[in-house]
Amino acid sequence: MKTLQRTLAIVKPDAVANNATGDILATIEANGFRILGMKMLHISKDEAEGFYAVHAGKPFFDSLTDFMSSGMVVVLALEKDDAIKAWRDLMGPTNPASAAEGTIRKKWGSSIERNATHGSDAEDTARFELSYFFAGYQLVH
Ligand code: ADP
Ligand code: MG
Repeated sequence: MKTLQRTLAIVKPDAVANNATGDILATIEANGFRILGMKMLHISKDEAEGFYAVHAGKPFFDSLTDFMSSGMVVVLALEKDDAIKAWRDLMGPTNPASAAEGTIRKKWGSSIERNATHGSDAEDTARFELSYFFAGYQLVH
């Protein structure tokens, strides 16, 4: 059975700088996601480290958090049946070089780091990530 779920999406600084925000938002809506919340932010290095705390200690952590705090991002709360998997399928895999035609990372990603978008990977991480950027009263209800 399908379950209505929420997930946290981010249009990363590379995609915002490449003027891909509108295209990515249109793709999100065309694929049946409901946008419950949306903010354009320039997060600090410290805020990026808190968001990606699960990756602390990995070799790419310092570069990733520099990148994520290097420019504006758009954070989105999305809702759909099985939204977590549906959004990850629409993004494509972490490395755009392995991504299929029709995915967002294929179209807009340029490297394994600069891969245009973020998506939560499970229900518990979605809860943490949604609450990192949105208070409940800030979402459509
Ligand atoms: P995803 O975003 O697909 O869930 P991960 O959670 O594994 O991927 O990694 C978080 C982010 O860290 C990736 O989206 C990417 O920007 C960056 N990243 C992951 N693996 C690498 C790597 N090997 N080298 C550089 N950056 C990476
Ligand atoms: Mg991840």
